[in-house]
Formats: sequence, structure tokens, C-alpha cells
Amino acid sequence: MTYDPENIFAKILRGEIPCNKIYEDEFSLAFHDINPQAPVHALVIPKGEYISMADFTRNAPAELIAGFMRAVGKVADDLGVTDAGYRTIANAGPNSHQEVPHLHIHILAGRPLGPMLD
Ligand code: IMP
Repeated sequence: MTYDPENIFAKILRGEIPCNKIYEDEFSLAFHDINPQAPVHALVIPKGEYISMADFTRNAPAELIAGFMRAVGKVADDLGVTDAGYRTIANAGPNSHQEVPHLHIHILAGRPLGPMLD
């Protein structure tokens, strides 16, 4: 599968469509999900053309991988959900119901989330 530069998160990264930004650095951008599934529902995306976690970890430079993972932890801290707890999800491929083909980590928090799969 080749990266589609017209996917919605690519457009957000290019500033072509707006987002409700939480955090940005040289490696990552984080913003609120447009259709939240919990009181806190953030998305963290790497700055680069990566479709999935497999694509990212195979092909991204180590500095970007480290910076992106640090951003996930920082966003959770900044949102104030680290102590109460949160869930991270990165869907990949058709069976996961991935809708946007640009790697993103969901951060879900703000209520008891229940079992992993429902
Ligand atoms: P996926 O199913 O893991 O690919 O999740 C895609 C997520 O992106 C969904 O939770 C959508 O609600 C969210 N989403 C789609 N378009 C936008 C947008 O323009 N801004 C913020 N979130 C979006």
C-alpha cells in the first residue's frame, strides 16, 4: 500500500484544513478527535508519510520514532489523564477499522473505559 498524500491527516499537517490542536513539535502533531468516543479523545500523528505502526517502525528514522512516542506521553500528561489512566490505540489495516491511512495513536480517557474489545 502506498501513502495517499490526500488523506485528511496529511491535509491537517499541511495546514490545508484546521484542527483543534493540543500539541506540536518537530516530530508530531496532536489534536482533539472530531468525533470523540470518550470525554478525552486525542489523536497524535507523526510528521511524515507513514500509514501504520508497521510502516513507521520499519521505515522512520529512530529520532522520529522516539520523538513521536515521547509526544504521546507528553500529550497524556498535558491533558491531565496520566494518573487516572488512559488507553492508547493505533488501528492498522482493514480488520482494525482504520479509517484514515496516516499513522495515529488515539488517547482515550476521562471515564472508566471497560473491556478492551466490545
Ligand atoms: P481510525 O478509525 O483509527 O482511522 O480513526 C480515525 C479517527 O479520526 C476517527 O476517530 C475520526 O473521528 C477522526 N477524524 C477524522 N477526521 C478528523 C478531523 O478532521 N479532525 C479530527 N479527527 C478526525
